[in-house]
Amino acid sequence: MSLGKIKFYNTLTREKETFSPIKKGEVSFYSCGPTVYNYPHIGNYRAYIFADTLKRVLLYEGYKVKHIVNLTDVDDKTIRDSQKEGKMLKEFTEFYTKEFLKDIKSLNILSPTKFTKATDYINEMMEIIEKLLKKGLAYKSSDNSIYFNIRKFKNYGKLSGLMLEEQKENPAGRIKKDEYDKDNVQDFALWKAWGKADGNVYWDADFGKDLPRGSKAIIRGRPGWHIECSAMSMATLGEQIDIHTGGVDNIFPHHENEIAQSEGATGKPFVKYWMHNEWVLVNQKKMSKSEKNFYTLRDIMDKGINPVAYRFWLLMANYRTRVNFVLEALEGAETALKRLYNLYQRLGANPLAGGGKVNQEYQNKFKEFIEDDLDTPRALALLWDVFKDEKISDADKKTTVLDFDKVFGLGFENIEAEKIPKEVQKLVEEREKTRKNKDFQKSDELRKEINSLGYEVKDTSDEQKVSKI
Ligand code: AMP
Ligand code: ZN
Repeated sequence: MSLGKIKFYNTLTREKETFSPIKKGEVSFYSCGPTVYNYPHIGNYRAYIFADTLKRVLLYEGYKVKHIVNLTDVDDKTIRDSQKEGKMLKEFTEFYTKEFLKDIKSLNILSPTKFTKATDYINEMMEIIEKLLKKGLAYKSSDNSIYFNIRKFKNYGKLSGLMLEEQKENPAGRIKKDEYDKDNVQDFALWKAWGKADGNVYWDADFGKDLPRGSKAIIRGRPGWHIECSAMSMATLGEQIDIHTGGVDNIFPHHENEIAQSEGATGKPFVKYWMHNEWVLVNQKKMSKSEKNFYTLRDIMDKGINPVAYRFWLLMANYRTRVNFVLEALEGAETALKRLYNLYQRLGANPLAGGGKVNQEYQNKFKEFIEDDLDTPRALALLWDVFKDEKISDADKKTTVLDFDKVFGLGFENIEAEKIPKEVQKLVEEREKTRKNKDFQKSDELRKEINSLGYEVKDTSDEQKVSKI
């Protein structure tokens, strides 16, 4: 089977590029996953729905995909909030992990090849830090924490377009917090020495064992957030990977720091294609926990809205455009989705339909759209066109819709066809024979009989369409 020729916008080069993975036909793909300290808001879910759509496109185009999604189960926020609730870190993060898994299922997000938990990869993180220390790219500070020296890494800033020489404010500064912004470009923490606030969350790292005496140190502490993703992606996908995704707010500092750590340690380019989804806004402001302008998936479900309607609403915009969330728009999307489900149900109503074929003309257009940096808005418009096209048989329509839905993930396969009672079905089948024999009188009689049971039949050149009156 020939592989599709896809174009993706690469944040690294700021261009749409023709996709060509390192290994022909196979894609190594890492997505930054959730920090499991709370219920994600629906803005966060845009990142995971985007990654899922991207994976579905790759699969549709014939690639084998190895997809890793991490679960950040140790960082500043998980430690802070587990302690606030007086819970052990593991118990606390496992609860939110389970909730996350339920959510992604209800959004029709396919399971990745593997979810990686940060706490399962602490040794791998230590190994990278050790390499960076050896290479002089990292150093121990007076508080015993280990920092990455951004001035020693010549490409620092290449992803976010940051010019280091412009960052004069605090060239010798360091930042221990996991999250910070471009106004705080500084050396960042790889390993954070234990402090009282960390409670019982710590690991003993044996750093500098191969370094001259004086550099050796057993440091009780925990990893910084950024090193987690470098370690998990390398451990599961190798030193060089094809695609790495996240929301645009991950570009700096998280992904910039991942590049510095990974490329600093291996000396090889880390990721070929960096892809980022834009924000979900509320009143033109980013949806976020801190702004308290967020909705969770539960909020939506409590209003009786199907979570898949949110997925559908997002697909109506390209992943690289900002979308402003209003509840009414989501309700509108749900109405439209229900209409599509209805149209689909009717296709199945034809008892003689079956064994349809994917319509080639439509499929070619569909591929053209999704291959253009996931142009889902145009692909969705095409889906409506398929439903409306009277030249296509119901069976072919059904098969074409199911084919497109491999990418959309709107769950058409779970929509049960409108049930036609057995007695009606029998009459329709009988009538099919009379049609073939051109016995019009009998055929009319059968039509009336079908009508009397509350169903109608419409004749097309090659089939009868049955639906409730
Ligand atoms: P976090 O748990 O804060 O690391 O966020 C998880 C993912 O959601 C990251 O990929 C973020 O970039 C993404 N994200 C956070 N807020 C939004 C938003 N309002 N719209 C779209 N993506 C977001
Ligand atoms: Zn990450």
